[in-house]
Amino acid sequence: MNKLLTLLLLFIVTLAGQNGKPKNIIILIGDGMGLSQVSSSLVSDSSNAFQKFPTVGLSVTCSADKLITDSAAGATALATGHKTNNKWISVAPDGTILKTVFEYAKDKGKAAGVVVTSTVSNATPACFLGHGTDRKKERELAAQYPDDNWDVIIGGGLKYFKPFNDTVNKKMFTDKISKLHNSGYTVFTSADSLLRLQPKNKFYALLAEDGLPGALSRNYTLADLTNAALRTVTRNKKGFILMIEGSQIDWALHDNKSREFEAEMKDFNLAIHTALDFARKDGNTLVLVTADHETGGLAIAGGKTDTTALSYAYTTKGHTASAVGVFAFGPGAEKFGGIQHISGIGKKLIKLLTNK
Ligand SMILES: [Zn+2]
Repeated sequence: MNKLLTLLLLFIVTLAGQNGKPKNIIILIGDGMGLSQVSSSLVSDSSNAFQKFPTVGLSVTCSADKLITDSAAGATALATGHKTNNKWISVAPDGTILKTVFEYAKDKGKAAGVVVTSTVSNATPACFLGHGTDRKKERELAAQYPDDNWDVIIGGGLKYFKPFNDTVNKKMFTDKISKLHNSGYTVFTSADSLLRLQPKNKFYALLAEDGLPGALSRNYTLADLTNAALRTVTRNKKGFILMIEGSQIDWALHDNKSREFEAEMKDFNLAIHTALDFARKDGNTLVLVTADHETGGLAIAGGKTDTTALSYAYTTKGHTASAVGVFAFGPGAEKFGGIQHISGIGKKLIKLLTNK
C-alpha cells in the first residue's frame, strides 16, 4: 500500500512538472543586482547560488517614462506584468490599479508573503502588497496591508504602523498594530523572538523602525527570515507565493561601498540557497531570482584568481539601464530563459498562476 501511495505521489509530481505549473512560487529580488554584481559572486564564491540554476535569461528594465528605472517601476513590472512610471506603485500611467501576482495568488486560495531587509512599505515590497502613485508615502501604503490578509510580512518599518498625526497633509493614521492583533496576527518586533518562537500561523515581523540593520551588523540572516516565512506559508495546502528581497544590495551600491555590497550579496546568496533547498525537496516550486535594475554601474576592475579579494569600479551613485540576470529553477523555469522585458517576467508569473 505504501509503495502504491509513493508511486501515485511520484506520478502526481511528474504530472505537475510536465504541465509546467508550479504550486508554489518563490521570487527573490536582488535590488540593484546587475550582471557585474552576480559576477562578483561567481568569481569569488565557489558555493554561490547562481550556478545552481538550469535556466538563465536577461531582463531589460526601463520603465514607462524613463530609460533608467527606479525600484517602484521595476517592481511594478515584476509584480503586475505592466510598465509604469518611476515612483508609481502598481498603478498604470493612466491611473488604472494594476492587479498584482500576490492578488492573483490570493484569488487561488494560496498564501502570500514578503521578506525584505528594507521597510516592508518600501517600493519593492509595496508593489506586491499595495497600490499608489508615490512610493514616498510609505505610511499610506502600509495602511493598506492589514485589510489584505497577507500571511507573512517580515522586514523593517515598524514606525509606519504606529498611530501618527500628519499635520502637513491633515491626516490621522490609526494604530495598525492593534488592528493586526484584532485580525488574529502575531506581531513580532524582534528577530530573537521571531526565530525562537517559530510561528506557524500568520504573522507580521516588523523588526526595526526603519530598514533592518545591514548584513554586516545583523546577527541573523535573510535566510533565517526566509525559513521563518516558509514555516508559515507551507501550511497552506493550495500553495504559496513568497517575495524575498535583498533590499540593501542597492543601498550599498548607491554609496559605492564594496565591503557592504559583498556582505549583502553573501546574505542574499544564503537566502537563494534556502529557497532552492526547499524547492528541490518539494518538487513543485518555481524559484526565480532577478533584479529590478542595476545600481552603481559596477565593474570588477581587479583581483586575482587565487584570492577572493576583488576591486571594483563604479560609474555612478545611481541606477543604470544595464540589463539584469534572470535565474529560474523548477516547474515553469524554462519560460524565463532568453531576453525579455522586465514586465514580461510579471506576465509569465501571472500566467503560471492563472492559465491566462
Ligand atoms: Zn536604488
